[in-house]
Amino acid sequence: MDAEELSACMVRMGEPGWRGRQLAEAIYRQRIEEVERITTLAKALRQKIASEGWQVGRPRIAQVFKSVDGTERYLVAGPNADGLTVETVWMPEGDEGETGDGTDSGSRDIQAGPSAARSSLRWDRATICVSSQVGCAVNCQFCLTAKLGLQRNLTAGEIAGQVVAVLERHGVEVGKDRVNLVFMGMGEPFLNYENFMAAVRLLVTEVGISPQRMTVSTSGIVPGIERFAGEPPEFRPKLAISLNASNNTIRSEIMPINRKWPIEAVVDAVRGIQLRTRERITFEYVLLGGVTDQPQHAAEVARLVRRTGLPAKVNLIAWNPGPGIAYSTPQPEAVEIFRRALSAEGVPVYLRRPRGRDIYAACGQLKRTIEG
Ligand code: SAH
Ligand code: SF4
Repeated sequence: MDAEELSACMVRMGEPGWRGRQLAEAIYRQRIEEVERITTLAKALRQKIASEGWQVGRPRIAQVFKSVDGTERYLVAGPNADGLTVETVWMPEGDEGETGDGTDSGSRDIQAGPSAARSSLRWDRATICVSSQVGCAVNCQFCLTAKLGLQRNLTAGEIAGQVVAVLERHGVEVGKDRVNLVFMGMGEPFLNYENFMAAVRLLVTEVGISPQRMTVSTSGIVPGIERFAGEPPEFRPKLAISLNASNNTIRSEIMPINRKWPIEAVVDAVRGIQLRTRERITFEYVLLGGVTDQPQHAAEVARLVRRTGLPAKVNLIAWNPGPGIAYSTPQPEAVEIFRRALSAEGVPVYLRRPRGRDIYAACGQLKRTIEG
């Protein structure tokens, strides 16, 4: 619930509406997890709220996996008691996946607040990778999450709650410390559109994170992109498209969804978005050794991106291996040749650093750990 819904709830209890704002402050800013501890409310009111069966709270970090590179991967549970879990990743210094429009690139001029001492490593900016569904129905051939199938959608509270839980763990002061959000965890955000956008609105309005610090990645769900184009700029994150192939033949092979919405249809939908000043569309491109990492693919990607006429950049991701997936990681030389080829064609290109590979936290490796 946002402040407005909490206010309506308070009014129904015979309380003044502004109590709702106090509740929102407590839940999203002070990150309090129990009604009894919301001391801005009179004790009697706290008791009344609890006795009417209301609870405040958020998903619980049930397990922590720490990478040697400072990345932390969390197994996040509930609060729904169905036992299903998702994964959320904390990346101090980010992975360049959020880079590109000049506002939040790798410069390290802003110091983290005193609270940063609470986390294990110093960081000047951090990125949280957020899940939108338990599993995924899209079935991209190179992705470990696809192996789970879709188990269920996350609620708005479960999506925003992952962020609040991680902010609290690291003592992040929103507005002071620099945090970026990438909706690139488990699931396809645009196949859980309502809840995903409701979570974005909670994160903007109640948690206080700018949508320009958020990037949502989609495999190319055209109706979702069209709806997204209609969102007001104050609640619209930046957009990344998982392109992953230089033509429809290869893309249909590795991403079956391409048979429904081929590259041209995706690009047309993206054209409907009114971009902000300096904003660019990101095209993510997973390099599969021998399959998508050859020089002719780079030339084709450069042509394709230029032909869109969109302000765009390409984010290269070397494929991260997973059990039971028969692709191979690209040779470092192939990656470098690919990057240079795009760059030489005038296409802005970034190489995403694999974060937390040793703990299966890198792109496409998020899968319920108790299974894998
Ligand atoms: N479902 C959304 C967002 C989550 S996936 C989407 O597909 O866009 C986030 C990114 O990780 C996507 O660009 C996807 O192509 C990439 N990815 C998936 N599996 C990967 C793997 N094994 N190695 C590297 N990147 C991978
Ligand atoms: Fe789903 Fe994205 Fe994985 Fe494709 S890459 S299966 S859309 S999570």
